Amino acid sequence: MSQTVIVSGGAGYIGSHACKALNAAGFIPVVFDNLSTGWRDAVQFGPFEEGDLLDRSRLDEVFAKHNPAAVMHFAALSQVGDSMKDPGRYWRENVVGALNLIEATVAAECRHFVFSSTCATYGEQDAVTLTEDSPQIPINAYGGSKLAIEGMLRDFSARYDLDSVIFRYFNVAGADPDAELGEFHQPETHLIPLMLDAIEGKRPALTIFGTDYPTPDGTCIRDYVHVMDLVDAHVLGLKWLQADKGSRVFNLGTGSGFSVRDVVEASRAVTNREVPMTLGERRPGDCSKLVSGSARAIEELGWEPKRSTLNQMIADAWRWHQGKGFAR
Ligand code: UDP
Repeated sequence: MSQTVIVSGGAGYIGSHACKALNAAGFIPVVFDNLSTGWRDAVQFGPFEEGDLLDRSRLDEVFAKHNPAAVMHFAALSQVGDSMKDPGRYWRENVVGALNLIEATVAAECRHFVFSSTCATYGEQDAVTLTEDSPQIPINAYGGSKLAIEGMLRDFSARYDLDSVIFRYFNVAGADPDAELGEFHQPETHLIPLMLDAIEGKRPALTIFGTDYPTPDGTCIRDYVHVMDLVDAHVLGLKWLQADKGSRVFNLGTGSGFSVRDVVEASRAVTNREVPMTLGERRPGDCSKLVSGSARAIEELGWEPKRSTLNQMIADAWRWHQGKGFAR
C-alpha cells in the first residue's frame, strides 16, 4: 500500500512540484495548506487538507486521519524584503508554525521530517562557494527564522525518535516541463517571473535592485536551481530517511553563480524579446553573492541535477508563464 506524506505548503510553488514528484515515486502527498499564498488548483496529486500551522488541533486531526510515513515542510513566508519590513510576522508564522508541525509529527510517532531551509541562513560570506559547514549568520529575518527551525529540529532529534533531512535551497527557478505547475505568486516578488511579466508587457519594467554590489557587473549573484531537480532531491531525502541513514543537511544549488544582469541577458536570448528594465536601489536584506557547492547531495544522495541550466530554467518558466494562472 502506498505511504502518505504530509506536505505543508503543498499548494505553493515548490510544494506543488514536490507533490508531483512524490506521486511519481509512488507516495500519496497529502497537502496541508492555508491557501494564504498557495493555490487550490495546484493541488493535483493527492488529498487536500485546508488548515493553518498555527492551529495545532487541526494538525493533530490531519495526522490522525492520514497516518503519514513522513512530513515535508514547505509552508513558510519566504520573502527577504518583507521579512525586513515585518520581522515579527516571520518569527511568529515561520517559527511557531514549524514548532506546531514538529510537535504534531512527534506526537503522531511519525519519524521522518524533510525541511526546506535556505541559503539565506548563511548571510554575507567571504567563501567562494559555501558548504554545509560554512558559518550561518543570517542578515535578514527570513534567514533567521529558518535557522531557528534548523536548531529546533536538532533539539527534537536529540530528544525524540525523529530524523530530519534539511535542504538549504539556493534560488529556485523554472517550472514543470509539462506546464501543469509553475511559479505563481500574488503579488509576485521573484526575479524571473517579474522579468517574464515585463517582457510580456504585464508590468512596465523590471527594476534591478542595486548596481553597486562588489560583483563584476555590480548586481547580486545567485545560484539558480531548477524546481524539478530540487524536488527530485526531496524524494531522495525521503528515501535516505527511510533507509535509516539519520539526520543530515544538504545544500541544493549548482555551484554556478549568475548576476541579475546575466539573468536578464539569458531571458532576452531565450524569449527573443527585449527586457524592459530600470536601475534601482538595493533591496534591504540582500546578500551580494550566494553560491553553493552541492557535492554532498550529489555524493551522498545520488542527486543528479538535470535541468538546472539558466536557459532551461527560463525556457520552462516561459512556457508555463504564457498560459499561467491558478484559482484558489
Ligand atoms: N531582484 C531584482 N529585481 C526584482 C526582484 C529581484 O533585481 O524585481 C534581484 C534580487 O535583489 C536578488 C535576485 O534578483 O539579487 C533574486 O531575487 P529573488 O527575490 O528572486 O530571490 P531571493 O534571492 O530573494 O531569494
